Amino acid sequence: MTLLDDLQFLLAKYHIKPRKSIGQCFCIDPFLLRRMITYSRVTENDIIIEIGAGFGFLTRLLSDVAKVVIAIELDPTLVKAIKEIFRSKKNIRIIQGNFLKIHLPKFNKIVANPPYSISSNLILHLFRLNFQYAIMTLQKEFVQKLVAQKGSKNYRSLSVIASYSASIKMLEDVPRESFYPHPNVDSTIISIKPQKPLFNVGDKHFYFKMVRCLFTHRNKKLQNALKFFIRNESNIANDAIKTLVKELPYLDLKVYELTPEEFGIISYKLYSIFKENKIILFS
Ligand code: SAH
Repeated sequence: MTLLDDLQFLLAKYHIKPRKSIGQCFCIDPFLLRRMITYSRVTENDIIIEIGAGFGFLTRLLSDVAKVVIAIELDPTLVKAIKEIFRSKKNIRIIQGNFLKIHLPKFNKIVANPPYSISSNLILHLFRLNFQYAIMTLQKEFVQKLVAQKGSKNYRSLSVIASYSASIKMLEDVPRESFYPHPNVDSTIISIKPQKPLFNVGDKHFYFKMVRCLFTHRNKKLQNALKFFIRNESNIANDAIKTLVKELPYLDLKVYELTPEEFGIISYKLYSIFKENKIILFS
C-alpha cells in the first residue's frame, strides 16, 4: 500500500473531499516526510507543534521520536478522523482550531506541512512566538519572497521583516507531485530560526509599519516614499516634512534597493525624531 492508497481509503471512509481553499493538499511522499523528520532533529525531549495535521501522516512519524506532538487542525472532520486513528497514542494531543487564533500550549519546535492558504499570516504569527526553530514545507514562490535580497524582483516588505526576525534557510525543493491533490505550485522545505535583532530599529512596530508603507511605493525614490509615509502617519505639516526628510540617508535610492539594515537606520532616526519632538503618530 502506498501513502496515496492510504489517503484515498481515508478520504472515502470519512467522506472528505479535499478543499484547496483551506490548503488541503496531503503529503503522499513517505521519503519527504522522513527527510522532514531528519531535518528537524527531533529528540525525546521535544514538544512539537504541527500546523495542519491532515490525516496525521507526519504526526505519526513525529510521535515516534518526540516527547509530545501537539497537532493542530482546522477541519472538524479531519480532527474526528485523527482522534480515532491516534486513540491509543499517548503522546499526541489534537487541537481543533485555526492556528492563527488559538492559544498555544508550551512547545519548543515546529514541524509541519502547513496550509499554503495562510502562508503570510502564518509566518508573521511565528515571528511573535518563542521557539527554537521550525522545519516547514511552503510554496516555493512564497519562500523566494521570504528570503529575497535587496534589488531582486521578489524583494518586498515580507523579506525585510523576515530577515529582521529570523534566520531562514532553504533546505530542498519539493515537486507538486508529492501532494494529493497536486497543488498548482512546487514547494520548498525551509528552516526558520528566530533571532535576536541584528541592528537597532528604534521601535520594532514602527519599523514594520514603515517598511510596509514604503513598499507600497517599491519603485519610487526613498525620499518620495518617506514623505508619503510621514504624511500618512503624523500630524506634521508639508514644509516640515521636507526639512525632516532631508536629514535622512539613502534618499536617492529606490525603495527596493535598500537592505533591511538600511531601513533600520532610517527607522531608528525617524523614530527618534518623532519621539524627541513628541510628534503624534496616527496609529
Ligand atoms: N500536514 C498534512 C496536511 C497538509 S494539508 C500533510 O502533510 O498531509 C494542510 C492542512 O491544514 C489541512 O488538513 C487543512 O485542513 C489544515 N488547515 C487549513 N487551515 C488551517 C488553519 N488555519 N489552522 C490549522 N489547520 C489548518
